[in-house]
Amino acid sequence: MKVLVAVKRVVDYNVKVRVKTDNTGVDTANVKMSMNPFDEIAIEEAVRLKEKGVATEIIAVSCGVTQCQETLRTAMAIGADRAILVETAEELQPLAVAKLLKALLDKEQPGLIILGKQAIDDDCNQTGQMLAALADLPQVAFASKIDVADGKATVSREIDGGLETLSVSLPAVVTADLRLNEPRYVTLPNIMKAKKKPLDTLKPEDLGVDVSPRIKTLKVNEPPKRSAGIKVPDVATLVAKLKTEAKVI
Ligand code: AMP
Repeated sequence: MKVLVAVKRVVDYNVKVRVKTDNTGVDTANVKMSMNPFDEIAIEEAVRLKEKGVATEIIAVSCGVTQCQETLRTAMAIGADRAILVETAEELQPLAVAKLLKALLDKEQPGLIILGKQAIDDDCNQTGQMLAALADLPQVAFASKIDVADGKATVSREIDGGLETLSVSLPAVVTADLRLNEPRYVTLPNIMKAKKKPLDTLKPEDLGVDVSPRIKTLKVNEPPKRSAGIKVPDVATLVAKLKTEAKVI
């Protein structure tokens, strides 16, 4: 069974994000970029399925600028067998990515497609769900356990107040939640091996997909700065302030 995993290049989760001075978006100039953390979990899961003998080939896909190649090399260092970059300088929104992935599903015919549950830059949590709808495939979002046997995947998903376990026929789309696994560290020998693995580059036009944005960002603002706190001399003053100033009691 082929497993296709979508990996996005995003601002590293350790970076303190800054808004551009003209409020048109987030400043990404000279900022460290990495693989979206949920996508690392998605790749790790695919590699574990291969180690169990369930998956035969893992294909990592990234859509975006040329530098997404670095993200794909990381995916191959974790254990993906080959990679596809759908290269474009256009700002990609979830619907465009879902359409690109759908076109790749038609070409590659994977048995399982794993995405991250959300990208930490846009926080959309849409691409997996849109892909499942476009490809008319069963979907399980927020997976915390995946078992594959007899043409079916049994997937536990995190829901409010507990876990839900679903059985879906394959092919299916699954999105990875935080507790699905803990991704392995990438070792130097595997980074070296990944350099020799195949990485194909396509353009959205090659897949017949129009990726032009459907949503326009009007303005991006920093959250309001928290104002400094004050020290009160005693409990009586605190209670008085809560009553008269904060009006919460
Ligand atoms: P989102 O819907 O933007 O929160 O993204 C959810 C998931 O879709 C991510 O965790 C990735 O697995 C996948 N994805 C989104 N954008 C891209 C992209 N440009 N390239 C590859 N995968 C993507």
